[in-house]
Amino acid sequence: MNPIDRRTILTTGTLALAGAAVNQPAKAQAGPKALFAVETITIPVVGETDVFPVRRIYCIGRNYAAHAIERGSDPTREPPFFFQKPTDAIQNVAVGSVADHPYPSLTKNYHHEVELVAALKSGGTNIPADKALEHVYGYALGLDMTRRDLQNAQAAEKKPWEIGKSFDHGAVIGPIHPVSKTGHFSKGAISLSVNGTVRQNSDLDKMIWSVAEQIAKLSEAFELKAGDIIYSGTPENVGPVVKGDVLLCKLQGLPDMSIKIV
Ligand code: MN
Repeated sequence: MNPIDRRTILTTGTLALAGAAVNQPAKAQAGPKALFAVETITIPVVGETDVFPVRRIYCIGRNYAAHAIERGSDPTREPPFFFQKPTDAIQNVAVGSVADHPYPSLTKNYHHEVELVAALKSGGTNIPADKALEHVYGYALGLDMTRRDLQNAQAAEKKPWEIGKSFDHGAVIGPIHPVSKTGHFSKGAISLSVNGTVRQNSDLDKMIWSVAEQIAKLSEAFELKAGDIIYSGTPENVGPVVKGDVLLCKLQGLPDMSIKIV
C-alpha cells in the first residue's frame, strides 16, 4: 500500500472500521505509524541475550505482618493489597555494580523497601493458586523505593498515595533469573543494609500471601499477562536513606544488588 492509499483509508471512517473488523495481526502491524517512538522497558535475564519486556508493575502492600504493624495496620484483620508503579519507573541494576540512584524530588523522607520480584511469562484471570506458579518466568531482587512523607500525607487526607510510590526510578530491580535455574522462592533470607548496617532482615516464609497466592489474588482484579512483574512486599524496618548512602540487598539464592543514593 502506498502512503496516499493508507491516508485515504485512515480518513475514511467506514473503511477504517471495516479494516478493524478484520482484526488480523498482519493488518494491525500495517496500521497507522506511531507519531513518535516510546521506549520499550526491559529487564536483562541472567544467562540470556534476550531481555524481559515489562508490561505492568504490580506491588503488594503490607505482605509481612511485622511491616503491616509498623505501617499502622492489623495484619490479622486487614489483608495485603495491591498498587501499581508506571512501567518506566524501572531502574535496572547489573550484578556486581553499584548503580547511582537519584534522590527523587519533593521528598525529605525517602525509604528503602527490599522485595522479591516475580516476573510472569503468561497470565489470565481467576488463576487458581495451585496453578499460579506455572505463569512465573523468573525472579529478581527489587527495591520498592518510597517517598514516605508524601505517601503518609496523602493517606492522612484519604487521597491516593500514588505520588509516594509511582515516580521515576522508583522500581529498582536486578536481572531476572529464570525459574529453570533457581526454582521457585517460598523461603529464604532477605535483607537490606545501609552503609554496612543491617536495616531489614527477614525470611520469605513470613510473607502473608505467597507468590502463588499473590498471582491468584491479582488475577481476580486484573487480567495478568506476560511481561507483568510483581513486587511481593517488604519486611519490617523500612527506613530513610540520604544522598551518599550505599544500599546492599541480599536474597538467598540470588546475587546481591547494590545502589548508591546520589
Ligand atoms: Mn513495598
